Amino acid sequence: MALVLYNTLSRHKELFEPHTPGLVKMYVCGVTVYDLSHLGHGRAYIVWDTVRRYLVWRGYYVTYVQNFTDIDDKIIRRAQEENRDWREVVETNIKAYREDMEALNILKPDVTPRATEYLPDISAFIQGLVDKEYAYRAKGDVYYRIRKFPGYGKLSGKNPDQLRSGASTRVEEQQTAQKEDPLDFALWKDAKPGEPSFESPFGSGRPGWHIECSAMVQKCLGDSIDIHAGGEDLQFPHHENEIAQSEAMTGKPLAKYWMHNGFIRINSEKMSKSLGNFTTIRELIKHYDPMAFRLFILQTHYRAPIDFTDTALEAAAKGWETIRDALLFGEQEFSAVSSDSSLSSYRERFQEVMDDDFNTSEALALLFELAKPLVKVRNVKVHGGTVENPGALMQEWQTLKELAGVLGLIKVTNINISGPSTSSSFLKFDDDIKEQIVLRGKAKAEKNFAEADRIRNELKAQGIVLIDKKGADGKLETIWHREEDPTALSAGVH
Ligand SMILES: [Zn+2]
Repeated sequence: MALVLYNTLSRHKELFEPHTPGLVKMYVCGVTVYDLSHLGHGRAYIVWDTVRRYLVWRGYYVTYVQNFTDIDDKIIRRAQEENRDWREVVETNIKAYREDMEALNILKPDVTPRATEYLPDISAFIQGLVDKEYAYRAKGDVYYRIRKFPGYGKLSGKNPDQLRSGASTRVEEQQTAQKEDPLDFALWKDAKPGEPSFESPFGSGRPGWHIECSAMVQKCLGDSIDIHAGGEDLQFPHHENEIAQSEAMTGKPLAKYWMHNGFIRINSEKMSKSLGNFTTIRELIKHYDPMAFRLFILQTHYRAPIDFTDTALEAAAKGWETIRDALLFGEQEFSAVSSDSSLSSYRERFQEVMDDDFNTSEALALLFELAKPLVKVRNVKVHGGTVENPGALMQEWQTLKELAGVLGLIKVTNINISGPSTSSSFLKFDDDIKEQIVLRGKAKAEKNFAEADRIRNELKAQGIVLIDKKGADGKLETIWHREEDPTALSAGVH
C-alpha cells in the first residue's frame, strides 16, 4: 500500500516519496506571537500534528520544524498599545501558545527556531539574493525583485500581471516609491524611530516576514525539504514568496510537497477578528474537553472548510465521550493482562483510509466501530451482567488505543517521534547529540574533565540537558532530554 497526498503545487494527489527513503523533513509555518492562539491555529496544528504522528506510525523518521515569528509589525503595535516591552509580549504569548498546544495534545516540534535567533543567517540569505540581483537595496530597505523570478505565482496560481492590477490586500503594506514594482516585497525593513531594530550589513532594521522562513528552513533542514505546510491563507503571498526567495538562492525546489489546511468558519463566516467572532483556544477549552475539539477538527478532511457551531461541537463532544468511555472501560477491564495484539484487519483499514491523503474522518469512523461494542458491554456490566468473549473485546480495546494514539486523541509514550536526522550542520538533532555524549564520555574516561564540562555546557546552551545515572547493569550511563520538554524526548546513550 502506498501513501498519496494532495500537493498544492501540482493540484493533484501524488505518491509520497521523500527525498531520502524513510526520512521526512517537514516544516510548518508557526504563529506570530502577538496574541493568544485562536481556533484557526488550533485546527492547523492539530492537522499537522496528526500528519506527523501518522507518518511516524507508518514507519518514517520525521524531523518536524515549526518557527515562531517573534519580530513583526503586529508585535510592535501590541507592545505599544499595552505599553510593554516587545520581548515581554513575545515571551508571554509563546508560553500561552505552548500551554494551548499541550492541552490539544499536540507534540512539540523537534526544533522551534525564532526569527531573532537566526538574524545572521537571515542577513546572509538577503545578501546572497542581492548578489544574485534577485534583491535590491532602496534607502534602508531591501526588496525582492519578483520580475526576476520566472516561477513567481506557480504555487498560488496567481499571475503577477493580474495581481498588479488587482493589488491584493495582503501584498506588503508599504506601496512606497522606492519599490521597482508594487509586488516587490521587503526582505529587510529600515529601522523606524522608537521601534526595535537589529544591526545588519544593510543598516539597522528588522527582517521581513517571508525571509525568516526561507533562512530557517535552510538552516534547520537544508535546501530541499519533503513537506512544507501551513494554513491555506499562507499560499499567497507567504509561501509564494518563500519559494521565490529559496529557489532563487539555491536553484533547487524548496519543498517536494506543499500542503495546506482549510479555514475554520464560525457560523459560516470566515473567522477573523474584524467580524468579531474571534474565539481563543483557551476560551473554548473552558467549555469543552480539548479532545472533543480535536475530534471535531478531524471529522472533516483537512483541506475542506469547517463550520464551527455550538451544535456541531456538542455532537463531537458526544462522540468523544463514546471513545473515551470505551478506552476507560478497557483500561479497567484488561490493563492487567499483558498482551499486545491489535486487530490487523482494523489496522489495515485505518492505513488504507489515512494513506488516501489523510482521510481522518473515515479513520474516526473505524474508531467508533471499535468503541461502540466496548461501551455496550460496559453498560451490560454496569447493570450486573457478565462480560462475554473478553478476548475479542480486549483486542478491540487495544486496537482502539493504538489508533486513537495515532490521531492524537490519547497521550502515547511508546511512539518514536524524533528519528535520526540527515542534517549535519545542526547540533540539536539526536544523532549529533549522541555523538557529543559519546565524546564527553571519552573525555571523562581520559580524566579530561574540562573538555567533558565544555561539551555539557555547550549542549546546555542549546537546551539539551544531560543526566548521568547508573544503568541496570551498574554501569554509568548518560541520558538526555530537551529542556523545554523533559518527558517526550529522551534517549539513552552509554
Ligand atoms: Zn513561513
